Amino acid sequence: MKIKSIKNKNYKGKKVFLRVDYNVPIEKGVITDDTRIKAAIPTINYLLSQGASLIIASHLGRPKGKPSPEFSLKPVAERLSEILKKEVKFAPDCIGYEVKKMVNSLKEGEILLLENLRFHPEEEEGDENFAKELASLCDSYVNDAFGTCHREHASVYQITKFTKDVAAGFLIEKEVEALSKLLVNPEKPFLLILGGAKVIDKINMVKNLLDKVDTIITGGVMAYTFIKAKNWEVGNSKVEEEAIPVAKEIIKEVNKRHLEFHTPLDHVIVQKISEDAVPIITERGTVPPGWIGVDIGPQAIEEYTDCINRAKTIFWNGPMGIYEIKKFAKGTIEIAKAIANSKAFSVIGGGDSAAAVNEAGVADKISHICTGGGASLEFLERGTLPGIEVLKEE
Ligand code: ADP
Ligand code: MG
Repeated sequence: MKIKSIKNKNYKGKKVFLRVDYNVPIEKGVITDDTRIKAAIPTINYLLSQGASLIIASHLGRPKGKPSPEFSLKPVAERLSEILKKEVKFAPDCIGYEVKKMVNSLKEGEILLLENLRFHPEEEEGDENFAKELASLCDSYVNDAFGTCHREHASVYQITKFTKDVAAGFLIEKEVEALSKLLVNPEKPFLLILGGAKVIDKINMVKNLLDKVDTIITGGVMAYTFIKAKNWEVGNSKVEEEAIPVAKEIIKEVNKRHLEFHTPLDHVIVQKISEDAVPIITERGTVPPGWIGVDIGPQAIEEYTDCINRAKTIFWNGPMGIYEIKKFAKGTIEIAKAIANSKAFSVIGGGDSAAAVNEAGVADKISHICTGGGASLEFLERGTLPGIEVLKEE
């Protein structure tokens, strides 16, 4: 897939509308994680170096289509200004007379951050008139909000109908390149590591990858759902009941294709999920009645590490256990370390998996860590996204 790059365009003296994903966690007006703000910095710096003036727009949280101070992007403007060591002007809205005036007085090299796009319901509705108003602010459009590309929202999708010049920022370019490598001729063997909790959300991605992968290993609620689908005992472990029929279907498909498929050989189990629970290790791959599986056991870690060492391509989504509790984090951390030590091309998708990789201190040894959980899963499911299609080279 070839998408339009900002690299071979002329931005001198142009007003560029840059759609980013500044959906950062904010507690009492303080940004607690600025990863997403930093992620789009290379694109911002490049556009500025080319002589553009920037109109930056994003959504933040779920303000339900009306202005609400707790979802204001004001703190983001301040943080962005600190990071860039440069003034960042802030507009009180994203459309309207006041905004137009601020945009008109914007000079080359200057930055204006617009207020939250989702203060208008038209953004999420993909309203064309709203998109037209946004487009009227700029000469060129650049999208670097990968995490929103699976939505046909006005500032991501419809806006491209009303701007002649569109391109993808560096972040989107990187994401598309890494994810495409998983879909198009991945180096074999290809290992898929499935964990975490949102089984239903991930099942279509798994289905689409069945034709590409050689080995699947499972942990977390994902594993218990598959174990239960095999009619094995899971005790009181968390299972996604509504996903059991599809899990059964997937097991059938896996057998038909002669793929290697593993549920954990052993488990860390407790009778109650809490910091002071006393965990024990099961002797086999099932969980006895009354007990809850909270992590994969040592034999499973060994077997999974072996699968990782054999792989040339790895995609990991979802932690192996309740990694938020230190006692139950070992399986997840060991898997993260094993991936980091392998020479395979490795991609991590999912917010919690990415957090676990950071906790294990091995993020720099992973080939690519996706920034948009939902978007990356949908890309792997469909091979493209609406917001990416509109950025494609004709
Ligand atoms: P990601 O964000 O990487 O896509 P998910 O959001 O699907 O991953 O899943 C992460 C969540 O799954 C974590 O909050 C973790 O505590 C939970 N989880 C993992 N294993 C278990 C388990 N055995 N029982 C209950 N919850 C689990
Ligand atoms: Mg998650």
